[in-house]
Amino acid sequence: MRAHPAGPRHADVITSAGVSSAPPSAQAINALDPMVWPLNAVRGADGELGIGGVDCRAAVREHGSPLFILDEQDVRTRARRFHAAYAQAGASRVYYAAKAFISTAVARWVTQEHLGIDVASGGELAVALRAGVPGERILMHGNNKSMAEIEAAIHAGVSRIVLDSFDDIVRVADAAGRAGVVQPVLVRVTVGVEAHTHEFIATAHEDQKFGLSAASGAADEAVRRIVKLPSLDLVGLHSHIGSQIFDAAGFQVAAARVVELARRLFAEQSVQVAELNLGGGMGIAYTDADDPLDVAEMAGRIGEIVRKECAGAGIPMPALAFEPGRAIIGPAGVTVYEVGTVKPVVLDHGQVRTYVSVDGGMSDNIRTALYDATYTVVLASRVSDAEPILVRVVGKHCESGDVVVRDAWLPGDVVPGDLIAVAATGAYCRAMASNYNLLPRPAVVAVRDGVTSVVLRAETLDDLLALDPG
Ligand SMILES: *Cc1c(COP(=O)(O)O)cnc(C)c1O
Repeated sequence: MRAHPAGPRHADVITSAGVSSAPPSAQAINALDPMVWPLNAVRGADGELGIGGVDCRAAVREHGSPLFILDEQDVRTRARRFHAAYAQAGASRVYYAAKAFISTAVARWVTQEHLGIDVASGGELAVALRAGVPGERILMHGNNKSMAEIEAAIHAGVSRIVLDSFDDIVRVADAAGRAGVVQPVLVRVTVGVEAHTHEFIATAHEDQKFGLSAASGAADEAVRRIVKLPSLDLVGLHSHIGSQIFDAAGFQVAAARVVELARRLFAEQSVQVAELNLGGGMGIAYTDADDPLDVAEMAGRIGEIVRKECAGAGIPMPALAFEPGRAIIGPAGVTVYEVGTVKPVVLDHGQVRTYVSVDGGMSDNIRTALYDATYTVVLASRVSDAEPILVRVVGKHCESGDVVVRDAWLPGDVVPGDLIAVAATGAYCRAMASNYNLLPRPAVVAVRDGVTSVVLRAETLDDLLALDPG
């Protein structure tokens, strides 16, 4: 069985999972489910969507459409909760996974709320450093870090580099040696667990590009080589098992296997694992069908699991570390689009599906096309008591797979010029954006207490033309 990070694939029928076969009430489709929408999302005096005290219509007038809006207080609140809950569960550091979305503003928010930052490229590192994040708060990942990226990380004094292959060990050791430093490192271990939502798959062998396998002995061999290298300081092990995980079951098998490796390293090589980084992957609600565990509960369960496994293996409990990305930034972001065309299509069985085309699409949100992700969408410029109609929100790209929301209900009077908003787009949307069809990438703005500030400005046609020497 194979599940996507966003859940099982929806059949292409009207009564598919995620869409109730009976239309919701007109009132329900105007409502903003607090599990899905940002902390400070409300309906304003005209029924418009407001976030952080800012009217989405005004934000679009000023910054254009599509527009990513980030609720700053929401990001900060989640970061603070993660820090508190995971520290309580035994974590010495929680790193925000920059790949979900990074900018200097976001780097400052999360570090002010006591998180570190996990970067996976020289670009992500450069943004964190430009934001003033000290190296001791940064961890670097990557299965194919370039020598330039490794040197930049060492120069910045990053607190951890996660080693992913035998080649990587040699390169990081060389770079640290040349710089005259002893670089703290973790070994990324693959433990044969792939977790998504409520499902996880446990296998004996690994068939993926990340990490060094615990089952084959590759991880043991990596440790044997690292401890001989004077420019590397082996601090511990790392394991990241998946994404959009809703409960602690997947972590159970992963923790058991990585603790077994730690026990073996102690027994056979006298190596103590001081730190165990269990990665990220904590899930969020994209629709009301998603029901992730509360932060404190997830943290408590994972901490308990590791404690039990260590007690069983007879080794001391290591300090824990985590790397949530989506769970910090995802729910805080929404995308506002302007509706361009509304086209009813009669299906075989006589039912009507209305295609609502927006002024963006797979270039600002690839997740629906890539993972069959599900999303919640509402009419944002107003409320309406018109009868709900079944819609498919699509983009403006030259691909029939250019779908933003596969199945959703919107008021039946939705017309060109309306604004609609898609919830929980803070993670892996702007970060994965492209210029397909040469669409400039949208702006990202932060809202807080009625004030809007630019996080990333919108690209312009000139930005795109500037790449072409003519
Ligand atoms: C992607 C990733 C994360 C963050 O995953 P989320 O699902 O956004 O929490 C953390 N660590 C590693 C190694 C990753 O690859």
